[in-house]
Order: sequence, then structure tokens, then C-alpha cells
Amino acid sequence: MLDTKYFCDLCGSETRYIYDPINTKRGMKLFICKKCGCLQSLSFKNYPSRPEGNMSSDADRASYKYTKTLALGQYSTLLNKFCLNINTSNILDIGMNRGAFYKWATRNFIYEKFTGIETDASLTDEYCNDKKVNLIIDRVENVDLGSQIFDFAFCVHTLEHVKSANSVLRQVFRALKHGGVFFLAVPNIIFHDDIVEEYFIDTHTFHFQYDILLNFIKNTGFRVKYCSEPFDSEIIFILEKKHKNYLKNDKIKMNERYDKVLMELRKYEDKIHINRELISSSVTQINKYCLEKRKCFIWGAGRIFDCLIKFGRLKPNDYLFLIDKYLSDIISNSNGFKIYKPKDLVQNIDENSIVYIASRRYRNEIQNEAKKLGIRKAIYFGSDGSLKDI
Ligand SMILES: [Zn+2]
Repeated sequence: MLDTKYFCDLCGSETRYIYDPINTKRGMKLFICKKCGCLQSLSFKNYPSRPEGNMSSDADRASYKYTKTLALGQYSTLLNKFCLNINTSNILDIGMNRGAFYKWATRNFIYEKFTGIETDASLTDEYCNDKKVNLIIDRVENVDLGSQIFDFAFCVHTLEHVKSANSVLRQVFRALKHGGVFFLAVPNIIFHDDIVEEYFIDTHTFHFQYDILLNFIKNTGFRVKYCSEPFDSEIIFILEKKHKNYLKNDKIKMNERYDKVLMELRKYEDKIHINRELISSSVTQINKYCLEKRKCFIWGAGRIFDCLIKFGRLKPNDYLFLIDKYLSDIISNSNGFKIYKPKDLVQNIDENSIVYIASRRYRNEIQNEAKKLGIRKAIYFGSDGSLKDI
């Protein structure tokens, strides 16, 4: 099957198979567009859909489906700034999830109709009986959204899961009225130097990079009202349907990005293995402090924590505690560690306590919260494992 030619979903150019994600359970293969550098995964194995949530640092990672709730705070700032004075009579929410946006819209928008599309019926308890909500349980690709129906469309952390991002964007464009607004967010693939977690996870078919997606959007009839910064962890667009046709021209004008992305990917492959070996030096430091009877608080129970376990062989002991403010709402234990909320551990903190910051994205937030709790020393993920003042 790898001999078959696959074409880029965005620009239609030929692609090349370049990478096997680590420990994929869906037989995923990564393909790169030989022109625009777009990265897309294809599965070469039958698999059951909707895997159970887990925080594996490999490709078998699956979401606990709480990202959308977590991220809504950030989106609401943008919605308040750019979307409060627009027409929102008829709303479309693609990937309605636990209803975080629906709840926000109910408080802040005036609407008559709210159409939600969600694949997982088990998440819909809080809104499935609302008479105003037209809930469709299906993949967006299977739904006829109609033409010129909606004033506002919302789609966050969904486009990276679909079979064809291009077709779904076309569907949304068609379904919006002229002047309709589209709020779109996807993860941004940035090849960090301290990478330890596999980016190309099984549930993602697209791995968007900022310049590539922005370049593509500019080829469409959407006008960019707002766009996030290139190195933000998410790519967020607020778009307006401005043109009659979905594509501005017959020929999509994508920049040549193949060589650059290919080089970044080859470096990523090397770095992920090197960094995974290095992580054991952090675990050696943590174990040393625990032996000295200093309490160590690992803050962040996500994929970096999984690396401490898998590659550093970290084991529970009486001086070691695991904290995660958000995940603690969803799961109680991970790898034999109980997951605490910060407030549960206030009594345990003393002047010798140490925090290991197991997060890249929330590094500053964790550092500040740890400081407020009275922790004065930290080990930062991605560093040499030495102790720093906070
Ligand atoms: Zn392409």
C-alpha cells in the first residue's frame, strides 16, 4: 500500500512517506507534501475508534477530552474581543464535546438555533435535552451542513482528526452565510529542542504548522480577522466568509516548505531519542533528594510525567507527590501515583520542598503557583536536572 501515491490534502501535490510514529497502535505512517510540507498521517491497520483516554508519551496517547474545557478561558478572551457584536442567530459547533462553548455562548451570545456535531454521545448529557440544541451524533464529514445557513461556526481541536481538512473547511465555508464568522483552533506543531513526547499521535490525521495553515487559508475565500502568533501552542483563527467561492483561484498557491519541514523532522527524530535518554538524569536527581528526606512535588501528570516513568523508571516513595490541577478532576491515579490538587498538599510543603515542573506549556503558571504555596526550589523539565531558586 505504501507504493500507492498519496496527494497532499491542502495543495494536491505528491507526498512522500517519511516516518513511523513511535509505538503506534493504528499502524500510522507520516507523509509529507513535496511542495507545501503539510504533514499528514494515514492508518495502515484496522483499529477500534475512540480509544480510552491515556497520557502515553508515545503515539498511542489518547485524549481525556478535557482540552476544550481547559482552553475555553483563552478562547473566551478572543470571543469577547472579536465576536460580541456580530450576528450569532444561528450557530454551528463542530466537535461539541462536553459543551464548553455551548455553555459560554448561552451566557454571552444571543442565538435562536444552535447546531452541535459530536461523535461521542456519552459526552452530551449536559445539553442533549436542551430544546434549542439540534444535536447530531456523527462525524462532520458525514453531515450535510447545507448552504448559507449559519452566522457563526466554532471548531476547536477537531480539524486535526478529520480525513480531509480541506473538505471540512469547504463544508464550513459553504454552510456559512456571506459575512459569517468562523472560529477555528488546532494544535500548532513546533519542533521544540526539549522534545520527549511523540507529536504524531494516532488520533491526529493532520499535524498543522502555523505558516502552512495560514498560507492555505489565504488561498480561500475566508478573510483573516485574527490569527494567533507563530510560536503559540495553538493556531487560532477568526475568519470571515468574504468571497463567493471557497477557493480564490483554480490553482492553490502554496509556498515551498518541503525541504525545511523535512530537515526539522529528521532533527526531531534524533532529538526525541536523545532527550528520552537524558530524562533519567532528572530522575536520578529526584531520587537523591527523596533519599535526603526532602519532599519532591512533580507538577504535571501528563506526557512528560509518563517519560519520567517509562524512561527514567521513576517509582513512588513516601517523599514523592504528583500534582495536576486539571487531570485530578478526571483521573485519580497514574502509574501508582495518586494525583493531588495543589491545595490538598499545602500541609506537606516545607522550606526544603522541591517542585519538578513537568510541563512546557504551563511552566510559568506552575512556577508561580508553586511559589505561592511556599516552594522555593525547582527542577525544570528540559534542563540538566539542577536545582534552581524560584
Ligand atoms: Zn501540499
